[in-house]
Amino acid sequence: MKPRTPIQQEVARLSERLPKLTATQRAYAFRHCFKHYAIKRADGTNICTECGHSCRSEHDLADTVCGCTCPHCGMELEALRTRKSVFSENEYFSIVTTCKQYQVIRFFFVKSRYKAGQAAGYSIYEVVQRWISPKGTTVTVARLRGMSILYYDLWAEYSDMEVRKNNKLRAYDINPVCTYPRQRFIPELKRNGFNGEYHNILPYDLFTAILSDSRAETLLKAGQYPMLRHYIRSSFDMERYWASVKICIRNGYTISDGSMWRDTIDLLRHFGKDTNSPKYV
Ligand SMILES: [Zn+2]
Repeated sequence: MKPRTPIQQEVARLSERLPKLTATQRAYAFRHCFKHYAIKRADGTNICTECGHSCRSEHDLADTVCGCTCPHCGMELEALRTRKSVFSENEYFSIVTTCKQYQVIRFFFVKSRYKAGQAAGYSIYEVVQRWISPKGTTVTVARLRGMSILYYDLWAEYSDMEVRKNNKLRAYDINPVCTYPRQRFIPELKRNGFNGEYHNILPYDLFTAILSDSRAETLLKAGQYPMLRHYIRSSFDMERYWASVKICIRNGYTISDGSMWRDTIDLLRHFGKDTNSPKYV
């Protein structure tokens, strides 16, 4: 899609200037996105999926329970009893960073291929970038999603990274198995109460919510994390509950289950009770 609005055009321009993955970042992704196995054969041989080295194990049971370390490459391995000799896995890796005034979340598709007796093969390429302005407006830059139902064809690797519409579709909501530990945030996120903790909310959902919705910001600052999570996930009409939420905040009551609490407020209302009474809410 051709970028049309000024913000789309700016993002398209900036997107090309984002740095490539460094060797350290790639190594981190390969190391942490996947489990690494010691394939155990019936004859007591261990094969390391990382380097392909095989050796006889003297501590078969201990390996199985505690895992072991490859004597050749030093990788921590988890024991896997299988007769399969080739397997591959796909995962997502993400980097949380900033570019000019934007908060950016970059997603990479990581593939591993293990063949017993050979060193593991890995590949990684970027598939989605989510750009979030300080006001919470978002632009998605992505590759085409493949039409095939086969999982490993999910993304068309050689399509261009370009601004895509369907921003609201869940197609780009990726929950990565691993995020690079060095993260950067725009100051507006810190101003709105974000301190590096995601409280089990996807970064994209949390960032857009606290940048564009003052109620989400208030919930975060007040430490009402379960309520915030419920609000973001089920996007109900908060207007109906806000007065009661504020009473909870003022009285130091932390709502432990957003969904159940909301049902309770609905019941109170149904029975004509006062939903502004600290005693009830
Ligand atoms: Zn090894």
